[in-house]
Amino acid sequence: MSAKKINLREDLHIHSTFSDGADSIEDNIRMAISRGLTHICCVDHVRQDTNWVPNYVDQIHQFRRKYGDQIKISIGIEAKFINAAGELDLPDSLEGVEYIFAADHQFPYGIDIYTPRQIKELLDEGLVQQEVLFRHLIRATIGAMWKYSEQATVVIAHLFSILPKVGLMEQDIHIELKAALARAAIETGSLIEISERWQCPQLESAHFLWEMGVEMPVSTDSHKKETIGEYQFVRTIATQLPLLSIGID
Ligand SMILES: [Zn+2]
Ligand SMILES: [Zn+2]
Repeated sequence: MSAKKINLREDLHIHSTFSDGADSIEDNIRMAISRGLTHICCVDHVRQDTNWVPNYVDQIHQFRRKYGDQIKISIGIEAKFINAAGELDLPDSLEGVEYIFAADHQFPYGIDIYTPRQIKELLDEGLVQQEVLFRHLIRATIGAMWKYSEQATVVIAHLFSILPKVGLMEQDIHIELKAALARAAIETGSLIEISERWQCPQLESAHFLWEMGVEMPVSTDSHKKETIGEYQFVRTIATQLPLLSIGID
């Protein structure tokens, strides 16, 4: 059994001016190098009509040639769920993309997505039970893993970040659902990030997924270069995960 590690010198979720980040890819890379990081993943938001992916991939390849001896640079994009089957809001061609981040920016329920406010109203009016919502969210997450893991490595972005927005708590998700999620991640080679920005998944879920053997990269979801590789929440989680046969860099 190989030793599993949480590596605090990586940051696998960094936005640039290609979407809503404040800084260029090159400025982000320089900051990451200056902070001693060993691996970053460039991640920008896409939608079905996004047309800049080829240009984005080309640019990152150029920066790999320039900075590749100082840092490993991966190529990712982030897209939101559009239904509980786990389909994502993606453009047709993702050539050269290595990581697909699946994001719960809205709530996948049935054949559609809903804003947090809409879901809260359904809950408040007793039109949907929290158990049903948990099942749909987990179904979407597992669905994305199976649907896209042939194209690229799927990363679940800020797992459960939508829950506090609708008044639900990840602690209330049944353990069998979390187990199904863990099994799917392992079977599809998908990753579940621990997010500094969104402070999720929280310790109980992170601990469970980790013990099940899920690979869990750490990330800041930075939208400006100053926060790259800066961990507090993530560091606390990392130090509380079981240390048996693992280490913390
Ligand atoms: Zn996101
Ligand atoms: Zn993001």
